[in-house]
Amino acid sequence: MNAIGVDVGGTKIAAGVVTSEGKVLNRVRYPTSASPQRLLANIVRAITEVGDRFEVGGVCLSVPGLILSEENRVVYSPNLHSVEGIPLKEEIEPRIGLSLTVENDANAAVWGEFKFGSRRGVQHLVMVTLGTGIGGGVITHGVLMRGAQGAGGELGHVTVHATGPRCACGNRGCLEAVASGSAIGRRAREVASEHPDSALGELAMERKVLGEDVTRLANEGDAAAIQVLKETGRWLGIGLAGFVNVFNPEVVAVGGSAINAGEFLLEPARKEVRLRARPPSRDLVEVKGATLGPDSGMLGAAALARDPKTGEYILES
Ligand SMILES: [Zn+2]
Repeated sequence: MNAIGVDVGGTKIAAGVVTSEGKVLNRVRYPTSASPQRLLANIVRAITEVGDRFEVGGVCLSVPGLILSEENRVVYSPNLHSVEGIPLKEEIEPRIGLSLTVENDANAAVWGEFKFGSRRGVQHLVMVTLGTGIGGGVITHGVLMRGAQGAGGELGHVTVHATGPRCACGNRGCLEAVASGSAIGRRAREVASEHPDSALGELAMERKVLGEDVTRLANEGDAAAIQVLKETGRWLGIGLAGFVNVFNPEVVAVGGSAINAGEFLLEPARKEVRLRARPPSRDLVEVKGATLGPDSGMLGAAALARDPKTGEYILES
């Protein structure tokens, strides 16, 4: 039986009908909305349109932010406030005639990587997604770690620098505050003012520098941009070293848009993991880029859709 995965993001709703082999049979995209009613209408429209003509057993929404997956409720979503507090299951199920659950986007991404990524045999997998923020997901013994309320796995909000920059969550020095795509942009603007003659410095005179600019300039060989990514990779590695010690994973997969920077981030991150994590975990773990790309949230959500009667994952039943 197929399932529908819906990646509800800050800018778009991407829905797909997915088979148990991870093949996407049909897909649609709709914009998100700042109006809760319009957002709900677009989610319903996306599910109805994509699932038309296909046999589907259920639907799962992947949503960024703090999710109580046991209650199918989004408590806090800094980039998508319109989804907060809506009883999604109660509102949407009667309009689509299918069962629906809600999961955190990074939990869906790690599950997608586990089920359909290039290392699908791995039973102990940690994933961080570097975007506007940092999402986290943990799989141990082939099981997604959710915690008591389904709110666990928030690896981006582990403190790595007690007096560091303010995080979007209000805390100081979270991994997200020093190693996300937004953190790359912020650090780049500081380094640009220290090196006004660099390509980074010149761009900063013209307009606001973003995370993706830094990757492009690093690829063109600009030393200041490379320095920003190296520093960010170090902070990332400091966070990952802690996760390696706690979870003893076989693989740490790094995904999200900022991983376009590739080895500029991964190489210094691996170095910190080697310095700071303890053997034998340190010697086993492989730190690498995620393999699924932008579809990981949709694929993972589909793989987390459950049969309402048995509670089993639809793609496994
Ligand atoms: Zn935080």
